[in-house]
Amino acid sequence: MGRAEIAKQVAQFGTSLPGLASLGSGHFRNLVVGAGPAGYAVVSTLLDGGSQPTLWVDPEFQSGRLARYLEVPSNTKTKLFARFATTPFCGSDGAALDPYEGEDPEKGCQLQAAQQMVVRLSEAVHQEHGDKVIMRRGLVDCLDWQHDSWRIDHRQLSADRAFLATGSAPQDTDVLPGVPVIPLDEALIPSKLPGCVTPKDTVCVVGSSHSAILVLMNLMSMENGPKVVNLFRSPLKYAKYCPDGTIILDNTGLKGMAADWAREKLETGFYEKSGRLQRINTNKQDPGPATKHCTKVVTATGFKRNALPDISMDGRPVKDIHHDRHSGAIIPGKLYGFGIAFPEEVIDPEFGHKENNIGLWKFMRYTREALPAQKLCAMPH
Ligand SMILES: Cc1cc2nc3c(=O)[nH]c(=O)nc-3n(C[C@H](O)[C@H](O)[C@H](O)COP(=O)(O)OP(=O)(O)OC[C@H]3O[C@@H](n4cnc5c(N)ncnc54)[C@H](O)[C@@H]3O)c2cc1C
Repeated sequence: MGRAEIAKQVAQFGTSLPGLASLGSGHFRNLVVGAGPAGYAVVSTLLDGGSQPTLWVDPEFQSGRLARYLEVPSNTKTKLFARFATTPFCGSDGAALDPYEGEDPEKGCQLQAAQQMVVRLSEAVHQEHGDKVIMRRGLVDCLDWQHDSWRIDHRQLSADRAFLATGSAPQDTDVLPGVPVIPLDEALIPSKLPGCVTPKDTVCVVGSSHSAILVLMNLMSMENGPKVVNLFRSPLKYAKYCPDGTIILDNTGLKGMAADWAREKLETGFYEKSGRLQRINTNKQDPGPATKHCTKVVTATGFKRNALPDISMDGRPVKDIHHDRHSGAIIPGKLYGFGIAFPEEVIDPEFGHKENNIGLWKFMRYTREALPAQKLCAMPH
């Protein structure tokens, strides 16, 4: 099947599912909120662990945030996406790997392939396990623990335990008050930029993360692109692949195309020499004079959790939501969080600092370690 056909099929899948309101009443063993890569990882883990029935809710079933980043190059090698797709249960659906046909497993690819893969895997759950996993479009607004289960949205719907895989979104900070903001999600997409900036603009890009470098790459690659001022605090860092398979700065270092571009164009001062780019380390230099001329700003300094459903225990709101960064537990046995909003914590093997472990394969591996089959069976009904 060609790329265009896959894209069409993938787009149709979400809309084909019924809404949550169509489900009058029912009790489920599990509720999974969110159908990004992390939601899929949880659902497939529950299926493999024999835990059913599961109610799985998402507004679109289009793979979560990946659907916004179709044109973005991955920082992950293609083989790790394939590993995500071929973890036990999912191996039955070979079609999920179609989007990677012809890709080098040792190189990155466009995130569109990952997006299509996640939707196809979700579709396979629907087709092959529709009796065990009930998929409904919608938003879960509130969860109230009553007696021995979660009451969902004040409806006649309940579940023994809930898994939040609700994702995160770019954090907007008002770095240059009064200066129009280009949302990070727009700046990451090359085809959207011509509608956001003109050659007369001077765009301030804040940050030196993977996303910030992709934005710089997009802006500098534009024909008749704007001038750019890049404010940063930490120097460029690169992930290092060791022969034993470990990766140093796995989550905070640049990888893939962004790393190659930064080495070639930023470390050499290529664009700075031509006067199109000014990079300012704000720890060492006052950015004031350079930012005075900025007409647009993009901040790429981090992501924050999406709004969660209102959570209460016997009617009393649970205000502070904290998760255990090694088990995913928010309320052990009752409520868990996974994915980018509730990440695993790992220690960098060389520098010893803590990092949030983010990426599709990491979500799958962590979920399966945190929810082994024995634990799933032992959890009280
Ligand atoms: C620029 C960029 C490049 C990246 N590149 C890579 C890469 O190369 N490789 C890699 O592995 N990862 C990459 N990532 C990371 C990856 O895309 C994200 O980490 C991933 O999308 C997060 O998955 P998630 O399932 O946790 O959340 P999301 O994808 O955000 O999904 C959350 C889902 O939950 C739904 N939801 C939220 N609240 C509710 C509710 N109340 N009720 C029902 N549904 C709800 C949302 O609508 C959404 O569909 C990249 C990220 C960025 C920003």
